[in-house]
Amino acid sequence: LKSLLKDPSLLAEQSYLAGEWVDGDNGTYEVTNPARGDVIANVADLSRAQVAKAIAEAEAAQKEWASWTGKERAAVLRKWFDLMMENQDDLGTILTAEQGKPLAEAKGEIAYGASFVEFFAEEAKRIYGETIPGHQRDKRITVIKQPIGVAASITPWNFPNAMITRKAAPALAAGCAFVGRPAAETPLSATVLGVLAERAGIPKGVFSIVTSSRASEIGKEFCENPVVRKLTFTGSTEVGRILLRQAADSVMKCSMELGGNAPFIVFDDADLDAAVEGAIMCKFRNNGQTCVCANRIYVQAGVYDAFAEKLKDAVSKLKMGDGLEEGVALGPLINPDAIEKVQEHVADATAKGAKVILGGGEPVQGPGYFLPPTIVTGATQDMQFATDETFGPLAPLFKFEDVDDVIAMANDTIFGLASYFYAKDLSRVYKVAEALEYGIVGVNTGIISTEVAPFGGVKQSGLGREGSHHGIDEFLEMKYICMSV
Ligand code: ADP
Repeated sequence: LKSLLKDPSLLAEQSYLAGEWVDGDNGTYEVTNPARGDVIANVADLSRAQVAKAIAEAEAAQKEWASWTGKERAAVLRKWFDLMMENQDDLGTILTAEQGKPLAEAKGEIAYGASFVEFFAEEAKRIYGETIPGHQRDKRITVIKQPIGVAASITPWNFPNAMITRKAAPALAAGCAFVGRPAAETPLSATVLGVLAERAGIPKGVFSIVTSSRASEIGKEFCENPVVRKLTFTGSTEVGRILLRQAADSVMKCSMELGGNAPFIVFDDADLDAAVEGAIMCKFRNNGQTCVCANRIYVQAGVYDAFAEKLKDAVSKLKMGDGLEEGVALGPLINPDAIEKVQEHVADATAKGAKVILGGGEPVQGPGYFLPPTIVTGATQDMQFATDETFGPLAPLFKFEDVDDVIAMANDTIFGLASYFYAKDLSRVYKVAEALEYGIVGVNTGIISTEVAPFGGVKQSGLGREGSHHGIDEFLEMKYICMSV
């Protein structure tokens, strides 16, 4: 991997703990390339005690950092952003090597991840308070916003760069210190952020990356250490519930970006070609491994067959392979379990009457975790993917007749993250957008992520919002000062 980088010093196998590069008390663990199945790095495996140290150092550094002006914090964050973009190619290569997504997508993620740093660097100067007319003649009321303190983060492997910057950037902009544990599968995209943070001049202790194979131990330290005042998590609803329970004892402020089960609805009046293009971007980005990927595709009866045919044609043209190779649109899945889950959903659907029109769930023999994309027709609400996120390259097509029926089916889930629909009739567009019980609605588009808009879910898809001017509030406390004059 080093030989592929313009700047090999960006590859860091140690952890960045309070401004020092450290080995793990528990030795190292292996990182594999999912496209080849070979070991690409041996990364520091930190102990719980080392994570406790990172938290203590974060506490020591945070007060000073919070005393900087917003403009001063903005300047170093801006530098961090510039370094990410200057090294976009190398960061993308590292990301593809450990995560598998095609290089163009990986570089896109770096730009997306960096955009949060740029955006929140700007927001650092705009943490405004409020004055409220007093409730008595002698009273003056002021509201100020202050950093919450030390923020801990736990992130998944599907966006190994952007899920960290989306949390770290607002935390740092707010004046918090940040300790992040990346997913064990993708630590190198996180440690490189430490390399660049150091180069940007972010003070020691303000930003730490703790790599460890022991997810639950580190999660306990984050929840039980009284210094941590904020936990920010992206991952499954199942783990989110565990963390919320653990955080309850210390009444810690939590943000949770959890699972989804996104409906993607195509109405009779939709522009079908645009809907197919949107469905491909939405379903097959990162090979179906994003929490906003379409999981259930509902198509109105009048255009069902035409849509299925067009989708099949377009998907069968997508090239699968090692993400570092030119022209690849579909990389490997992250690991063998991910393949099994897709196979299980395909088997369950066909047993219940669905028909495979493309693929079918047989993985490619040889190294790497490759599974060709599958499309099934005749999907129904009793099939597993109707309740459970597939998180892989399976597109199930459900047929519907009536608008109210499809809204009811789309909302019939414990999740509420992203949803999408294609339609032209204006009153239908309004009605459906309002009726979908989701935090995000894409109308005539399959791509909704941007740093300027609030990302987050309702129901069991999470708590809080990331990105936009709202994103920084998650790392701030409000203080009301009542003054008698
Ligand atoms: P995914 O399906 O994306 O892997 P998970 O919720 O399993 O979602 O994992 C998200 C992140 O949470 C990963 O970094 C994982 O290592 C971590 N994790 C998993 N279980 C726990 C736990 N019990 N406590 C803390 N972190 C955990």
